Amino acid sequence: IFGEKRRNSKGVNLNVRSHYQPLMDAMAGFMDKTYEAVPLLAFEVPRDAANTHVVNSPYDRNRQVGSVQWTNKEQASRAVDAAWAAFPRWDATPVTERAAIIRRLGDLMEENLAELMTLCSREGGKLLTDGVDEIREAVDFCHYYAMRAEELFEAPTVLPGPTGESNELMLSGKGVFAAISPWNFPVAIFCGQVVAAAVSGNTVLAKPAEQTSIVAHRVIELLYQAGMPRDVVQLLPGDGPTVGSVLSADTRITGVVFTGGTDTAQIINRALAARENAPLPTLIAETGGMNALIVDSTALPEQVVSDVIQSAFQSAGQRCSALRILYLQDDVADRVIEILKGAMDELHVGDPRDLGTDVGPVIDEDARKGLMAHIDRLKGEGRLLAETRLDPAFTALGTFVPPVAFRIDSIDALDREQFGPVLHIVRYKANEIDRVIDSINKRGYGLTFGVHSRNESFANAIAEKIRVGNVYINRNIIGAVVGVQPFGGQGLSGTGPKAGGPHYLLRFATEKTVTVNT
Ligand code: GLU
Repeated sequence: IFGEKRRNSKGVNLNVRSHYQPLMDAMAGFMDKTYEAVPLLAFEVPRDAANTHVVNSPYDRNRQVGSVQWTNKEQASRAVDAAWAAFPRWDATPVTERAAIIRRLGDLMEENLAELMTLCSREGGKLLTDGVDEIREAVDFCHYYAMRAEELFEAPTVLPGPTGESNELMLSGKGVFAAISPWNFPVAIFCGQVVAAAVSGNTVLAKPAEQTSIVAHRVIELLYQAGMPRDVVQLLPGDGPTVGSVLSADTRITGVVFTGGTDTAQIINRALAARENAPLPTLIAETGGMNALIVDSTALPEQVVSDVIQSAFQSAGQRCSALRILYLQDDVADRVIEILKGAMDELHVGDPRDLGTDVGPVIDEDARKGLMAHIDRLKGEGRLLAETRLDPAFTALGTFVPPVAFRIDSIDALDREQFGPVLHIVRYKANEIDRVIDSINKRGYGLTFGVHSRNESFANAIAEKIRVGNVYINRNIIGAVVGVQPFGGQGLSGTGPKAGGPHYLLRFATEKTVTVNT
C-alpha cells in the first residue's frame, strides 16, 4: 500500500500454528535469561553496585528479569559533552548513510523478534499479540523515518527568485536531543524517538522509562551492531530527578522529545525555559488523553462493544490512545451495557505469555495502587456497572487490575487520566450532543476520539468539531499505524507533530536559506 519505496513490516500471525510455534520455541530460550543493563555511553562506565536496581516481572513479582545500573549525574553530564562534540561530524554525515544504519536496525529488530518480544512481556507485562505489534511498529518507524529523511534532507529545495539570484532551502540537524520515553511502548516509542532524532542529524541522549530499561538496552546494542557510532546515540538509564534533571538543565540540549504524562511534560518545559543564555529549545511532547467515544442510536451495539473492549482494555488500558469515556445515547445505552457486561465476563485476565489471556498486568505496584484507589472510590459511590473477574491466584502473584466499567455524569467528574483498564460511561440525550462535544473540548485534552454511528453526516459533523489528534469513525480508537494514521494530540495531549507522519522529522531539523547573487 505504500508503493515501491517502503512497506510496513508483516509481523507474525499468532493464529497460524506455523508462525506461532517457532516463535514460542525461540522465545523459550530467553525466558530464564538474566539481563544486566548498564549505561551505554561514549566512554567506559565502571560497575556501580550501589546504583544498580533489580527488575522483576509485573505478572510475577518473584521472577527476576535482571538488573539495571542507573546513570549518575556526572556520567550524564559527560554524556552531553560527548554528544555535543559528535554533533557536527554526525550532521555532516550523508543522510543516506544515516538512513542505512536506521534501516539495518529495523532489520535487526525483526531478526531478534523473539528476544525483544520476550523482554516486552517479562519486563513490560505485554501480551504476545501486543508484543508482535510493538516490534512491528518499531521496525516501521525505522523504515518510515529513513525514507522521509532521504526525501527531506538529501537535496536542498530550490526556491524561485529574480533573475541573477539563486535560492535554496536546506535542512540539517538541530544539535543534541534528549529522548525521554515511556514504559508502555518500551521498544516502539523508545525507538521511534531515537531514530527520528538521529536520522535527522542530531546526536541523542536516550533516557528510557525506569521500568523498561532492559529492553531499551537491548535495542541500543542492536543499534550499535547496525553501525551507529557510540557517541551519536547514548543510553542513560535512570530516574527523572537524576538523569532527566541534568539533561533538561544543560544549555547544550537543543531539544527534548518526550512521551509520558502531561505533568512531566510541563516540568520539562519549565526546566528548559529556566535555562539562562540557552538556545530556545524544541519540545516535542506526546502526553495523556481523556479519550471519548460517542455512540448514537443508529450504531450497531455488537460492533460497538467489540471496539469498546479493544479500545478500553487492550494492553490493560495502558495506552495514551485508550478509551476512557464512553458516551451512550439514552435509547441504546441499556442494550450496549448489557452486551458489554457479557463481553467483560468473558475476558481472561492473567499471564501475558499465555495466548488465551486478554488482559495482562499493569506495569507496577504504584500503578496498581493508584488505579485501585480510583476504582474503590467509584465503587464506594455505587457507580459500578460491570467488572471482570480476577483469579485470586494472580492477585498474589503480580500487579493485576481487572477491567471495570463505571457510570459517571460527565467528563468533569474525572480529575485526571486513569492509565489502566477503567472505563467510564456517560449517558446522553440526542439534544445534548453539542453540550457533550463542548465539554470534551473544554476539558483540554485532545488525543484520540471515536464516533459510532450509521448516520454519516452526524459522524462527520462531530469529527469536524472535536479538537483532537486522531479521530476514528466506526472502529476502535487504538493502534495507529505508521505512515497510515500519524499519531499525536493537541492541547494537554501534546505539541505535535505526529509520530509516524510525514512532518515529524521537520521538528527535529533546522532550516537554512542560502541566496547567491549569480
Ligand atoms: N500509538 C499508540 C496507539 O495508537 C498509542 C501510543 C501511546 O500510548 O503513547 O494506540
